[in-house]
Amino acid sequence: METKKTILIIEDEPHIVLGLKDALEFEGFRVVTAEAGREGCQVARQEPPNAVLLDLMLPDMNGYQVCEELRRLDPFVPIIMLTARSAEADKIRGLDSGADDYVTKPFSVGELVARVRAILRRANRKSSDAFEFTLGEATVNITAHTIQRKGEKAESLSFYEVELLRFLFERAGTPVSREDILNRVWGIDASPTNRTIDNFIVKLRKKVEKSPNQPEHILTVYGFGYKLVT
Ligand code: CA
Repeated sequence: METKKTILIIEDEPHIVLGLKDALEFEGFRVVTAEAGREGCQVARQEPPNAVLLDLMLPDMNGYQVCEELRRLDPFVPIIMLTARSAEADKIRGLDSGADDYVTKPFSVGELVARVRAILRRANRKSSDAFEFTLGEATVNITAHTIQRKGEKAESLSFYEVELLRFLFERAGTPVSREDILNRVWGIDASPTNRTIDNFIVKLRKKVEKSPNQPEHILTVYGFGYKLVT
């Protein structure tokens, strides 16, 4: 029998926890919950989850701190942030702290469950196609989820950073549309915006490029999308 995937919900609003727990259990997931940040990190340490749903506003720590702590425990675990704030600045900060995806409250439980499924499908793929490649002076290791620029310390890559780099690498030299990226990397049942992609590109350029403002590898194709040059 296939072991159930464990989803950790860190959220202090009981009705949201209940709704999500029911829906995820109905889908065949095992659900563990915590109503505060410290407790959530503790649960993650004891029972490493396959994915985390993390509220931004918690009573003891904020979601960003929790996210960083969870990333220290497991650099690869997919983390979806639940936030009542929709301002772009918050999203960018959340992505910097290592979240993979966002939903803004109020959200539909059905949509969130679909995103969890999509993110886990992609996470499953990673063990079967292990490889690394170089981009100028940077070596990307898809298996280890790291990037290392010559003479510098290796940096970890989040789940979607790896997926986005992998997708661009598979099509290196060819312009790839934002729509294609959304469909192939995030999956059609998830619904991030074009802006999400652009935020990820900004983060990746900081890790890949010698001068992120004058990229040599991850190029913008105006009005269309991006192109990777190896
Ligand atoms: Ca809250």
